[in-house]
Amino acid sequence: MLYHSTRDCALQANDVEAIISGLAPDGGLYVPENIPEFDWREWMALSSQEISAKLLSIFFPNLPEVSELVRRAYEGKFETQTLTPTVQVGELGVLELFRGPTSAFKDIALSVLPYLLVAAKNVAKEDAETLVLTATSGDTGKAAMEGFADVPGTQICVFYPDGGVSQIQRAQMVTQEGNNVHVYGIRGNFDDAQTGVKKIFAKAQNADVAKTQNNEENLPYKLSSANSINIGRLVPQIMYYFAAYRDLLKTGKIQSGQKVDFSVPTGNFGDILAGYFAKRLGLPVGKLVCASNSNNVLTDFLRTGVYDRRRELKKTISPSMDILISSNLERMLYFLTQDSQKVQKWMNDLSEVGKYELSAEQLADLQEHFWAGYCDDKQAQETILQVWEEEGYLCDPHTAAGWRVALDYLRESKQLNATQNDETNPAQNVMVVLSTASPYKFPRAVLEALGQKPAGDDFALLDQLYQLTGVPVPANLADLAGKPERHLAVIEKTQMQEAVFGLANF
Ligand SMILES: *Cc1c(COP(=O)(O)O)cnc(C)c1O
Repeated sequence: MLYHSTRDCALQANDVEAIISGLAPDGGLYVPENIPEFDWREWMALSSQEISAKLLSIFFPNLPEVSELVRRAYEGKFETQTLTPTVQVGELGVLELFRGPTSAFKDIALSVLPYLLVAAKNVAKEDAETLVLTATSGDTGKAAMEGFADVPGTQICVFYPDGGVSQIQRAQMVTQEGNNVHVYGIRGNFDDAQTGVKKIFAKAQNADVAKTQNNEENLPYKLSSANSINIGRLVPQIMYYFAAYRDLLKTGKIQSGQKVDFSVPTGNFGDILAGYFAKRLGLPVGKLVCASNSNNVLTDFLRTGVYDRRRELKKTISPSMDILISSNLERMLYFLTQDSQKVQKWMNDLSEVGKYELSAEQLADLQEHFWAGYCDDKQAQETILQVWEEEGYLCDPHTAAGWRVALDYLRESKQLNATQNDETNPAQNVMVVLSTASPYKFPRAVLEALGQKPAGDDFALLDQLYQLTGVPVPANLADLAGKPERHLAVIEKTQMQEAVFGLANF
């Protein structure tokens, strides 16, 4: 399948090149030239792994033996054979995406990405070592290192905002083992980390050009990315929308063909964009509900058509969504307009002025698929408490945002239905909330939500939360406390390039 940059249709790459490079050379993101529709009904008898292999073979047709690749990627790493179970909690379906090795939804794709990259390099006969650059708001970094640790031919370098992640998230990263992993805290926020990584890509690109022109020395690595700017991160995430639909069919919650709405806690728009891909592939997806925290730039955008990042980034209890520059939205803008010049203009405006605006017609098109809301910390804590007391289900602060906004959407659409003629209105769709992290990654916020006084550091809180709820602590988190801290460097955000180019001397 052919891909091209969101900012220039003439900048093409095949699937293998797109995975290897991560970002298009002009700073745009790779998008597939077409998304084929097919009969999803045939997939409803398949296992999650089989669905995953089907998706990989559609989007990455040049990669051989994808079934075997998927088997190796997931084998023995998840708590359940289905990988991403959908459970019923009251009126809502809950799609549990945190049953993997680092207890957050990033595991679904980052278990696969290293295998995709190695396979792509084999096909391309690319011998150069790959340096995987990763900016993380807390969960991507650990999941990426877990996937890439000691993978031959790769180095992995992670930047996280110092003080901007939970103590458990930090501990997961700084204790990471493996001879090819590099971890830096930066004095800055996630947007700084992500922008810094993009700048390093641009610099390496220029260095490549300089090298061919002047025969100069150069980074001994090819850069790639484990962030959802890499299409290899995005595609494996499509699987669980199909798996959820399959599981709802199996339990009789829906009839075949009935539409399902999904509420997605959103930061970089990668998770929810995978839902849009599922819809384009033909799955009966209704509304995709975009749930934000107080960093509600996407809520404003999807309601007004104005994207305005000129606001203070707030630290919240759902740090993986503390993002103002939502990178995958760029792909959605391309699908919306099919106009790479327009996307390029908007992205220029975003970086130079800090804002851009859709036309009324474009906004209406977008709202066909998406509804948006946000949930502040207080509302998230109320939701955690309410879901626990009423349903006996323990959810993390990111999931709580998805939950709250799902209920807001249901309330609004019910009112809308009630004011219209009943006969013209179908019954409400079934709603599925994506649960993106284990509550044990954020024990302090969860205990406070449950009205407890957290006593001690986050490691002590794991036990306190367990004693209170009886919900099992994921093994990977229970093991953290005794592990030595190996990566203590904290640098200025302006030192990211130095850090990366310094790795050349390893
Ligand atoms: C990354 C993350 C999100 C946001 O996902 P995006 O793909 O960036 O929109 C939500 N919740 C958790 C727990 C995460 O780690």
